[in-house]
Parts: sequence; structure tokens; C-alpha cells
Amino acid sequence: MQTILVIDDSSTIRKLLSYILRRKDFLVAEAEDGLDAMEKLSHVQADLIIVDLNMPNMDGLEFVKNLRNNYYYIDTPVIMLTTTKDENLRRDAFQAGVNMFLNKPVQPDVLLFKVESLLKGGE
Ligand SMILES: [Mg+2]
Repeated sequence: MQTILVIDDSSTIRKLLSYILRRKDFLVAEAEDGLDAMEKLSHVQADLIIVDLNMPNMDGLEFVKNLRNNYYYIDTPVIMLTTTKDENLRRDAFQAGVNMFLNKPVQPDVLLFKVESLLKGGE
């Protein structure tokens, strides 16, 4: 089974994403911000990461920069969930190593399709 790390400061969104992913037999680990996620990754091996942009302590952008500095997670697919339409922010996030953006609120079918295609190495 593959493990997905869900990082969002909203427990409602974490629960919703976990519910959607577990229905497809993914194992799900949750973190409430980037800092918490870095700690979780010291003992959980994630095959894919879904990260919110706006969070306290360490936001999504900082988290992805930190993640990509760790050789072990250099190629792990990262989906960023956001409501932003800010093109500069999106460009920065892509440069930091985000593979894909999904807009909130995310459609369950779209989320699962994107997750599965990234895990297969596609876009
Ligand atoms: Mg947030």
C-alpha cells in the first residue's frame, strides 16, 4: 500500500482528504503544518504529499523547499492545494518543486485521478 502525507492546518480538510484517499486503499498520514510534516517525515515514508499553501509555523512553500533539500524526497510527487490565483506564487511553488496545483474545494474524483497519475509517473 502507498502512503500519502496530507498537510493542512484545517482539521476539516485533513479529514475530508483522508476519507477520500482511504476509500481507495491509500494509507494516510496527517500533519497540521510544514513543521509538523518535517517531523512526521522523519519516521513516515510518504509516496506522495498533498500540501496546503497557507499554514502557520511553516507554510507550504517553505515546506517544499525544505523537502527538496532532503535527497530522499527529491522526487516525491507533491500536490499543492490552494485557492490562490497569484501567478507569481504559483511560479515560485513550481520552482520550489511542486509538481501540481489543485484548487480548493477539490473534487474527490479529480483528486484521486491526479494522485494516481502522479504515482504512476505521469502528469
Ligand atoms: Mg491553510
